[in-house]
Amino acid sequence: MSKPVIVSGVQPTGNLHIGNYLGAVKNWLELQNSGKYQLYIFIADLHSLTGKIPAEQLREQVKITAAELLAAGIDPDKTTFFVQSHVFEHTELAWIFNCVSPMGELDRMTQYKDKTAQQISATAGLFTYPILQAADILIYKGSLVPVGQDQVQHVELTRDIARWFNNKYGEFFPEAKHLLTKVPKVMSLLEPEKKMSKSLGAGHVIELREEPDEIIEKLKRAVTATIGGKKAPGVENLLGLLKEFGDEKTYKEFLLAEKDGTIRYGDLKATLSKTVSDYFTSFREKRANLLKNTKKLDDILANGAKKAQKVANTNMGTVRKLIGIR
Ligand code: AMP
Repeated sequence: MSKPVIVSGVQPTGNLHIGNYLGAVKNWLELQNSGKYQLYIFIADLHSLTGKIPAEQLREQVKITAAELLAAGIDPDKTTFFVQSHVFEHTELAWIFNCVSPMGELDRMTQYKDKTAQQISATAGLFTYPILQAADILIYKGSLVPVGQDQVQHVELTRDIARWFNNKYGEFFPEAKHLLTKVPKVMSLLEPEKKMSKSLGAGHVIELREEPDEIIEKLKRAVTATIGGKKAPGVENLLGLLKEFGDEKTYKEFLLAEKDGTIRYGDLKATLSKTVSDYFTSFREKRANLLKNTKKLDDILANGAKKAQKVANTNMGTVRKLIGIR
């Protein structure tokens, strides 16, 4: 029996940070290495056009994101790893899905509402974003989509789109289900009540590529003070990171010290700095090598696109016949 198909993408936002790692990448590595699934991981460059990224920056960031995911452990022999725009069928299928999806259903998407609330003008691309997402998944007949809670609605829409298509043209697409992953929420170093995000500024995040001395400096400035007498969210965040990246024994020692009030935040920060920088030592080396050897990187991505395209083209062949354009 063939393995369930899992499809997931990441926007080329440049350097990954530890929030991206713990919230998305680590989960992909576990799925990949379990051997139980057929995994498609892509760099969602077309999705990022809904933002304001300049062309040269996009080109650069696709390379960096690719190098970083490979350095983190995405294995192109196990996972079909590629750049979204290299497989034209994604956009072809998205157009066809545009034509079976009622406007009213897209209008309900809370992520669109949230984004438009912050932006002066929204493009049609931002509105139909979840349709391209549905095409990304269904072009490979993906049946499982690993997402956090905020993306569940889009997976439901993917399921609806598959149904609308199947009802109109005949049974073809599977009804994708979300694979809700327990995602630890990593908080900002400087404002630990907010989610760690590059948009807050460089001091708020630890990037995977950062050298040990940079990590030491960042963590030195991390906020540990209590706010309004409540349990310090900054300390909780640092302890959470120690739990994820370090060994159980050290984590438990600090946890105990925190409980009985003997904890020294300087020690916690120093231990965590070393733990995080050691964890990513081989990542830093692999990343640097891949970015030096861009021929190798390009070859990996070209091979991935070829593998993906083979499947996408077969499925599109059937879709074209079903809808009457062949
Ligand atoms: P973004 O580039 O912000 O869309 O993030 C890419 C992936 O990383 C998404 O799956 C997010 O859920 C995850 N992610 C981003 N920031 C964090 C964070 N602070 N904590 C946990 N996961 C995160």
